[in-house]
Amino acid sequence: MTILSKNFKFIDSHCHFFPPTIFKSIWNFFERPDEQGNATQWPIKYKLETEEQVKFLLDNDVQGFTTYNYAHKAGMADYLNEWTNGFSRAHKNAIPFGCVWPEDENRYEHVRKIIDDYNFKGIKIHILVQDFYPADNRMDDVYDLIFNRGKWICFHVGTAPYRNKYVGHKHFTKFLEKYPEMNIIVAHMGGFEYQKFMDLLNKHENLYLDTTMIFIPDNIFPERHSKRPNEEDLITYHDRILYGSDFPNIPYDYQCSREGLLKMDLPKKVLENIFYNNAKKIFEIK
Ligand SMILES: [Zn+2]
Repeated sequence: MTILSKNFKFIDSHCHFFPPTIFKSIWNFFERPDEQGNATQWPIKYKLETEEQVKFLLDNDVQGFTTYNYAHKAGMADYLNEWTNGFSRAHKNAIPFGCVWPEDENRYEHVRKIIDDYNFKGIKIHILVQDFYPADNRMDDVYDLIFNRGKWICFHVGTAPYRNKYVGHKHFTKFLEKYPEMNIIVAHMGGFEYQKFMDLLNKHENLYLDTTMIFIPDNIFPERHSKRPNEEDLITYHDRILYGSDFPNIPYDYQCSREGLLKMDLPKKVLENIFYNNAKKIFEIK
């Protein structure tokens, strides 16, 4: 029997919110033709204005959503974080996360502001886009601050959908050697090195994985599905896995982010934890 999406509440732990002009350039990047001039593999389905994005999520039973964005060059993080603060104040369902650039001179003071003054839940670090190693010493002051305040870091640090020299389990474990007890969410369940990242959950009790883009139906990107976590894995780690979608930057229907999970043979309680309870707990949502 398939369990229906309408039987659940959701917190989407992996949504992106950028200022509209920056979203437009990101969408143009995703939609550019490949080197042979073939049409994009990644036509963005939800090129919505900010308010429409929020409405879409609320209409889809999402009670809370993260605001992940990231700086891809120097001098941009302040602007993004100020925008995120304004957005989050206007939308009570937003779960605000900041961004940081390792070369910005004011990065410590700025992260201190978003944590202490704005009460952001943490920061998002996108190793694939930002091009630095997770354990980069330039980030130590920021990492220490996040740790001391008990806040969160979401890392895109896996080798999916493609890799650079900074991503992967090997580099991430160097970070964990420095900060074994940091509160961390690894995006995309660490794909494609799922098993290695799941093994880390046994040793690091403040480590969580998000399901973003992993349990979409098999006909979407079929080449990626061979080794994704199975029912047994999800049941074993049911209290450490968070539902995420990557909305709005997805080339398929939003419901696809739930379908793969709903079709698996999982107890309802496991789904409730993944869809809602785990995020409610760690983000301290009332
Ligand atoms: Zn994402």
